[in-house]
Amino acid sequence: MAAEGARHLLFQSHMATKTTCISSQVSDDEQRQQKRENVRSLAMGGHVGFESLPDQLVNRSIQQGFCFNILCVGETGIGKSTLIDTLFNTNFEDHESSHFYPHVKLKAQTYELQESNVRLKLTIVNTVGFGDQINKEESYQPIVDYIDAQFEAYLQEELKIKRSLCTYHDSRVHVCLYFISPTGHSLKTLDLLTMKSLDSKVNIIPVIAKADAISKSELHKFKIKLMSELVSNGVQIYQFPTDDETIAKINASMNGHLPFAVVGSMDEVKVGNKMVKARQYPWGVVQVENENHCDFVKLREMLICTNMEDLREQTHTRHYELYRRCKLEEMGLTDVGPENKPLSLQETYEAKRHEFYGELQRKEEEMKQMFVQRVKEKEAILKEAERELQAKFEHLKRVHQEERMKLEEKRRLLEEEIIAFSKKKATSEIYQNQTFMASGSNLRKDKDRKNSNFM
Ligand code: GDP
Repeated sequence: MAAEGARHLLFQSHMATKTTCISSQVSDDEQRQQKRENVRSLAMGGHVGFESLPDQLVNRSIQQGFCFNILCVGETGIGKSTLIDTLFNTNFEDHESSHFYPHVKLKAQTYELQESNVRLKLTIVNTVGFGDQINKEESYQPIVDYIDAQFEAYLQEELKIKRSLCTYHDSRVHVCLYFISPTGHSLKTLDLLTMKSLDSKVNIIPVIAKADAISKSELHKFKIKLMSELVSNGVQIYQFPTDDETIAKINASMNGHLPFAVVGSMDEVKVGNKMVKARQYPWGVVQVENENHCDFVKLREMLICTNMEDLREQTHTRHYELYRRCKLEEMGLTDVGPENKPLSLQETYEAKRHEFYGELQRKEEEMKQMFVQRVKEKEAILKEAERELQAKFEHLKRVHQEERMKLEEKRRLLEEEIIAFSKKKATSEIYQNQTFMASGSNLRKDKDRKNSNFM
């Protein structure tokens, strides 16, 4: 943030002779308000010393160091790592990616670089496995999620009571280098979809990768085709700013060269009596830094030397601001009240708290009602069950009574039968005894008769 301040103050230093300094960043509304406040310009009698403010800021920024985060989006093997190595003239030792990842993964790596006394904390984010899946529909979602996650982390730091934004490692993506295959045809649907879903979140600089694979005339037509496709599909790519007159001309001309056709290589080849970065083929040498061969130098100039600070600033003032606004609105925070009256954070908080408690009470009441209703329903169900049980009980009681009466009747009949039987038995016993006795006396008579016959 100190560097942003430095930029503003450098602008202000042009105006140092005037005592009124109006920031280049203030909006039209603010400017109008400032005019209304009638700020007076005064001439000073002599040197005061605040003209050294820009120097103070530059010194502080140099002490703190800078950070820059690049997101490389493109298919595996399209030349992302090679181009980044070539851009920063170092070997970031990124390992070769496999083509067989089931999902797109984002791999971020941070490096500390130093050029003269300027320290740069550089984060390279690579899209591993991009475009390798059969179903490419969801390829861009992990990229969107990653960018949002970095905004969210920054927002959370900003919202903390104890903030440490000076030492905070800002991981928000400042630029997305979008690598387009040198097909010479048109953009792939995946490219359009991805760029469309990223353009409101990050500064996109499209590049035609491996530009040595396409002829000069084809490249010219390809660039025109790509730009017209981007425009017709409403994809907003980053435009180099033309508001600063010191760089307006070069930036305007570079905007006309987009998308840059790049070649990457860390190999050194002898051309004439000089060693240059190049790709050597049996038929010749493609020099990376030769503007007749490719746009690598244009990209490096625009990305690193001229517009790095603008990319950082755009990220903060445009993309992050949009994310922050949506997020805070989602949380219910607002700058104005119902009648468009400005609201302080305290008032918004109170209104929100009131609304929240109202909602809570409403929910509580709703739950109470629901509870009473449920209890009533349950009570009715239980009563019905009780009634059914009672009916069942009565029925069983009746059946039982009937059964008992039937059994009583059976018992009575059985007892009568037993009595009748006992009577019959007694009669038959008497009869048997009589018969027996009669037969005994008859036998005796026969015996006596037989005996008298013998004598
Ligand atoms: P990444 O997977 O996208 O990071 O791709 P790499 O940077 O690992 O490059 C994959 C292959 O492409 C390597 O063999 C590189 O040498 C080659 N390569 C990189 N840049 C270029 C280029 O500009 N032109 C050509 N023809 N090949 C390149």
